[in-house]
Amino acid sequence: MVNLSRSKLRGLAGVAALAGFAVAALPAAQAVPAASTATPPAPVFGEPAGTATSVQGTETFSTAAYNSRTALQTVRYNKLYSTGAVPPSKCPEVNVSLRTTAGVQSYLTQLWSCSYYSWAAPLRAAGAAYKTKPTLIVHNHSKLTTYCGVVSGATAYYCGYQNGQIYMPAYVISNLWRQSPTYARAYATNTLAHEYGHHVQYLTGILNASWWRQRAFSTHSARLEESRRRELQASCLGSASIGANKRYYPMSTGLYAQWKWLVEHSGDQPGQLRDHGSPANHGWWSHAGFYAASTKTYASRCNTWNSQASRVS
Ligand SMILES: [Zn+2]
Repeated sequence: MVNLSRSKLRGLAGVAALAGFAVAALPAAQAVPAASTATPPAPVFGEPAGTATSVQGTETFSTAAYNSRTALQTVRYNKLYSTGAVPPSKCPEVNVSLRTTAGVQSYLTQLWSCSYYSWAAPLRAAGAAYKTKPTLIVHNHSKLTTYCGVVSGATAYYCGYQNGQIYMPAYVISNLWRQSPTYARAYATNTLAHEYGHHVQYLTGILNASWWRQRAFSTHSARLEESRRRELQASCLGSASIGANKRYYPMSTGLYAQWKWLVEHSGDQPGQLRDHGSPANHGWWSHAGFYAASTKTYASRCNTWNSQASRVS
């Protein structure tokens, strides 16, 4: 836990993870027959809207770093979009129960190392400082004090401080495991990958430039659209690293079916703040990154800033 002065907070950009994941994607246990991996779990609306999004108002960033031209240049014409195929990490999934914090820690630690491996080459090609891993914090807190502010502990969270910090709630994953182990694996895999997507955004300047743009827009709707472009891109980038490694994990059969259901049902739910994108668009960008039709995946498939507004609604 830290207590930072306002001046020290400048330059940081945090991102509350997929609100939709925490809000909509909790499966009802009875809806997930153990023998059938094809039956999707039913969504349960278990948390009040805005749990994750409310923290966005606490984010701070350096306004001196960008102007409207350079911020657009950074998010839309980033060198990240001209990098080569994301290499597969060749990491297999860790075969461990996610019932305990130790199990979740072990599972996520491997994913974190594998994400680092997959993104090192594209980040290097983009001219980003890729060498140091972000810090992974697996915790059981309901509330967190991060360098980017105080946030709900129930949602995964990324804070762009120093080398980057990824916060993952173990108890959320363990709770899902008790309802559906396969779904819990899909959720853990996808959520860590999404947070690492924010890390890629951070290292390439996209995260801070996007926050600069969000603050600079004068209308609420334009600010929300900027948030959606940023979040949908993080999911696309995360899916790209999952897709790059799909043969080795492997991301197939039951796990793939649960992942597909998850990404197609995550996003802004009715009555929520429209800051993460509709489930339809979230699914679209997740599949775009995963790129099932190809053995290769590319960060360039995730340029949400070069996309029509209806695709980021
Ligand atoms: Zn996010």
